Parts: sequence; C-alpha cells; structure tokens
Amino acid sequence: MSRVLIVGAGLTGSLCACLLRRELQVKVHIEVWDKARGAGGRMSTSRPPDPSSHSADLGAQYITATAAYTRSHHSLYSELLSAGILQPLHGLIEGLRQRDDTKDYVTPLGTCSVVKHFLSESDSVDASGADLFFERHVTGLFRRGASWEVQRKQGDSEMFDAVVLTMPVPQILQLQGDLGHFLSAEQQHQLHQVVYSSRFAIALFFPPDAILSVPWVAKYVTDNSCIRYVAVDSRKRNADTPGLGPSLVVHTSVPFGMEHLEWDKEDIQPIILKELHKLLPGLPQPISIKCQKWRYSQVLTSVPGCPGHMTVLDQPLLVCGGDAFSHSNFDGCVESALSMLSVLKASLTAAP
Ligand code: FAD
Repeated sequence: MSRVLIVGAGLTGSLCACLLRRELQVKVHIEVWDKARGAGGRMSTSRPPDPSSHSADLGAQYITATAAYTRSHHSLYSELLSAGILQPLHGLIEGLRQRDDTKDYVTPLGTCSVVKHFLSESDSVDASGADLFFERHVTGLFRRGASWEVQRKQGDSEMFDAVVLTMPVPQILQLQGDLGHFLSAEQQHQLHQVVYSSRFAIALFFPPDAILSVPWVAKYVTDNSCIRYVAVDSRKRNADTPGLGPSLVVHTSVPFGMEHLEWDKEDIQPIILKELHKLLPGLPQPISIKCQKWRYSQVLTSVPGCPGHMTVLDQPLLVCGGDAFSHSNFDGCVESALSMLSVLKASLTAAP
C-alpha cells in the first residue's frame, strides 16, 4: 500500500486528507503531521485556561462565500451547514463592506471546528483512514530512490511514497535536504515572490458576570494605527452560552504587525491593551489574556503561475499547496486541496 504524508493539519491539509480518503479508489495509507499540539493552523480556536469563559478564534474570523464559490463548492458548504459547523452570520459587523453576491458564515464551535470536521471525515474505522499526529515537526526531505525520507525535529525519520506540503511557503523553503535540488530555478523564483501580511491577535477571556455592552458582534476600526478589528467572539459565533463569560478578540493592523514583527508577544501585549482601553473604555477585567503573533497571516501576493499547487517532483511525488497558491480564505484553501487531489489521484492510481 502506498504511504502518503500530508504535512500540516490546517484547512488545506485536512481537506486534502478527507477528499483523498473519500475519492481515491485504491487503498493508500495516509498520515497527517503537524508541528502544533492541535489542529487548525491559522483557523485556530483558543480555549481559555479557566473553563468559565468562551473560547476565542485567534486567526480566521468568519467565512465569506461569493456566489461563484457558493456554486462551485456547493457540496462542501451544504455538508458544513447540515452538520451545524457553519451557520449564517446574524450579528452586525460594523465597517464590513457588504457585497450583494456574498454570504457570511460563522462557526459556533470556532473556526477550528471546520478543520476538525474534515479531519474526522478523513479518519475511518478501516485501514483506509488518515492517521493524525501532532507535535511532528518536519525539518527535512531526502529522496531515497522511489520514496521520500521525511526527517523530524526529534531526529528520527520515516519513509513515504508521496509527500504533500501545506505550510506557509517560507516554512517550506526552510526545509533541509533535497527539496532545493528538485525545485527548478523558475519554481524557486515563483516561491520567493510570495508575500504575507503579519499581525498580532489577542484574546481576552472574561468571567461569566462580565457584560460587554457594545451594539456590534465585531467591528473594523479605522481610526487607530494599532488596532484594526475587535470581536465579541462568542456573540459573533451565535454561541453565547449562559454561565460562560464572553471572549473578546483583537487583531492589530497589518502596518503595526509588520513594524513590531520581531517584538516579543510579552512586550507587545500591553501596548495593544492600552489602545483597546482607549477604544472600549470601561472594559471589565478579564480572567486571562492570550497573545498570538501571526508572522504569516494572510497572503498578499500568491505564487504566480501556480493555481492551487506546485508539483516539485512527479516520482516520488512531492507537491506544495495551501492558501499561498490561491488566496487566504476558506475557498482559497478548498481550491488548493482540490487541485492537489487531482495530482495525487493521478499519481497514486497510475500503474507502477
Ligand atoms: P495553515 O493554516 O497555516 O496550516 C499549515 C499547518 O502546517 C499549520 O497547522 C502549521 O502548524 C503546520 N506546519 C508548519 N510548518 C510545519 C512543519 N515544518 N512540520 C509540520 N507542520 C508544520 N480566512 C477566512 O476565510 N476568513 C477570515 O476571516 C480570515 N481571517 C484571518 C485572520 C487572521 C489573523 C489569519 C492569520 C488568517 C485569516 N484567514 C481568514 C485566512 C485563513 O486562516 C487561512 O487562509 C487558512 O487557515 C490557511 O490554511 P492552510 O491549511 O493553507 O495553512
């Protein structure tokens, strides 16, 4: 049985694993590795240290579907809506530029529930499901005949017949071993053109009796150089549960994120909080606060000339995908996963 490794348990990797499991006619062994301790990647949902508050989405906030993507990704939207993973956005997002042909959706259980849904769909009771491993940090890829030897940070390695890389492009380019030898000069050039925005995100977790009296569920801020977006996260997700305190999410502006990119989170947190108190005077005291630096937040310039994926080598197969090969949102990741699926299907079902 062929062994396929998908690196990254974000949306692209998880959906790719799910679609492979559903659509591949031949049996393959699929593993998904992520260096983090949980699934989601940039669709991450943080649990508070104290369980008396709601969780908070530190990365992706809501899903906006254009009419064209609503049609072309109809089956995935229907699946997520009927499973209750997605719900229409009901609350007011102040400053959101509404377009007639778009629909906004929220995730009552947090954006990571979309990723977890596809991971659970990629799993199965028989041997054809994907095996998921966290805290597996890939550091190098070495070609060994018709296989890839994939090295982990811990020092050990495993062999696979096909490898799919879904992490941000700068992290792909950091991999040691043979990747650099197999990338053509043109491909190297294409990958180096990718540009990401950077920003910080803060989640504030409040006690059950805290009241956040604002008329919106989220707001785009235009008159503050530090803060770009604030959301009463639990309310935005239609998920306010009695007995649990609200959670508030703050995203900095991209210029602020870029300017302070090398600062420690501990030093940046008080600056953001000071600006937040100017925006929302009288904010109650949170129980806990979490700060996240998104070095690779959203793709500003995607990989040119490679819609969906880049095939580095056909045999043994090495493919790169992720939002850098399309655009930074749900549909961009779906496009990339679908495009990698066709390459994987062709390769794994080809006669030896
Ligand atoms: P990622 O989510 O980055 O997944 C890559 C995974 O690879 C990660 O889990 C990482 O841990 C893992 N990894 C990296 N290196 C290694 C390694 N060496 N070994 C093993 N694992 C590794 N999208 C929307 O649709 N709506 C929004 O409102 C929205 N807002 C956003 C706000 C912010 C602040 C951010 C950061 C993103 C936002 N996005 C939004 C974009 C969306 O989150 C991304 O487009 C999407 O999550 C990208 O998914 P991915 O699977 O391609 O990559």
